[in-house]
Amino acid sequence: MFMSEQLDTIIVGGGFSGIAAARLLHKAGKKFMLLEARERLGGRTHTRYFTDGKYVDLGGQWIGPTQDHMYSLAKEHNVAWYETYNEGKNILDLNKTIKTYTGLIPKMDVASLINIDLLLKRLESLAKQIPLEAPWLAPKAKEWDSISLEAFVRKYSYTAPCYKVVRAGLETVYACEMNEVSLLHALFYIKSGTNLNNLLSIKDGAQQHRLTGGMQTLAERIAESFSASIRLNSPVMRITQTDEGVAVEGSDYAYPARNIIVAIPPVLISNIEFTPALPLHKTQLIDKMSMGIVGKVLGVYEKPFWRDKGYSGQVVADEHGPFQTLFDSSPADSKYGVLLAFCIADRARDFFSKDQDTRKNLALQSFARYFGETAAKPIEYVDHCWAEEAWSKGCYAGLYPTGAWTNFQGVLAKTTGHIHWAGTETSDVWYGYIEGAVRAGERAANEILNKY
Ligand code: FAD
Repeated sequence: MFMSEQLDTIIVGGGFSGIAAARLLHKAGKKFMLLEARERLGGRTHTRYFTDGKYVDLGGQWIGPTQDHMYSLAKEHNVAWYETYNEGKNILDLNKTIKTYTGLIPKMDVASLINIDLLLKRLESLAKQIPLEAPWLAPKAKEWDSISLEAFVRKYSYTAPCYKVVRAGLETVYACEMNEVSLLHALFYIKSGTNLNNLLSIKDGAQQHRLTGGMQTLAERIAESFSASIRLNSPVMRITQTDEGVAVEGSDYAYPARNIIVAIPPVLISNIEFTPALPLHKTQLIDKMSMGIVGKVLGVYEKPFWRDKGYSGQVVADEHGPFQTLFDSSPADSKYGVLLAFCIADRARDFFSKDQDTRKNLALQSFARYFGETAAKPIEYVDHCWAEEAWSKGCYAGLYPTGAWTNFQGVLAKTTGHIHWAGTETSDVWYGYIEGAVRAGERAANEILNKY
């Protein structure tokens, strides 16, 4: 058993949140150790490199306007960003019929188009009323927290095509069936990410930019200067608090420290044994929260051939296909092409219960249906389900079901003795996004730095 001298701080979790906290503690000259369960840093961001240097992002990959902390970290660590490809014809796959369109407005009957516009505007206007630091104080918080997003969307969808298109879009935003989140959480999430337009868009939106070399590259670059204070393959199993500080234990180590920052998804907190036990409100909320489910399905090609045919690579599809949405996810220099499909919620549970060959066949049939036979012959095929990863249990983030915000309020981020809480789910701003993770990590580090 390895025993260390007392440290200022232990950080649990080497995702962007833990790394952002470590960066500030390192700058302040504090003695800390970051303990990460996996064999890698990055958490819900993971860039997979192929032997020839091509790569795909399996996890979080985009950044966009108002995510200032991300742009400034990328700049500081010399990681360039580039525009997501967003030109040409988009595809709407509705009722087994493929239609193409350019710009933001799909080719649909006018009544459905007006319905979609009004429904999204209604969501947007309710979201404006959410106080980010206390969503439970919104004027109709109780009412909004007692129904699901699904109930709201059904109520205001007057045509079937409207419901189907809004459903595919919102499932892509929240990574769940719409009946898995409360309307209040959905509204909080919208306000947290500025507005719905921002969440849904490439241009001037959350999908505007990608990082050259992949998102995990940035996590690793930030961590380079404090790599001696990182221990991989080290799941934290026990946290014991005393008046003086904390003792943190894994299977083969024990660290005493004055403070601890726990920067892991809420659903994983109960893997750790806490002495004394965490407050009841916290454990109850953690038990109620669930993770969304997303699989990324990727085809890598010699070039982004769909662009030559005038396609953007973007698709929105109803429940007849395996995927909600597709994007062009090629690298900055377009030296090769990457088609990225999002397989979410019920569609993901169905898709990932099939074997790998069946999944690949289904995916490539779907790609070929949209972009022709070339799409059925990628040089690489990858699919990845985050719900199957023990150290994530899903994504993009923890979801509040009905009643959770109003019954439990802001307990997730509230300090518990010497324990400070980070992770994207503790951020008011850009909750669920990498930007939120970074802001939360910095907030937790500052809580500690401001103590002394
Ligand atoms: P995590 O990244 O989950 O980090 C927590 C870390 O803690 C993990 O490394 C885990 O291994 C470790 N850990 C857990 N338990 C223990 C333990 N007991 N002991 C030690 N270590 C432990 N966001 C965007 O901004 N843009 C996007 O385009 C985007 N797309 C996404 C697509 C997918 C498919 C996924 C999965 C996520 C996406 N997200 C996106 C969300 C974004 O990736 C996350 O919000 C963010 O990475 C969360 O960072 P975090 O540090 O809070 O948590």
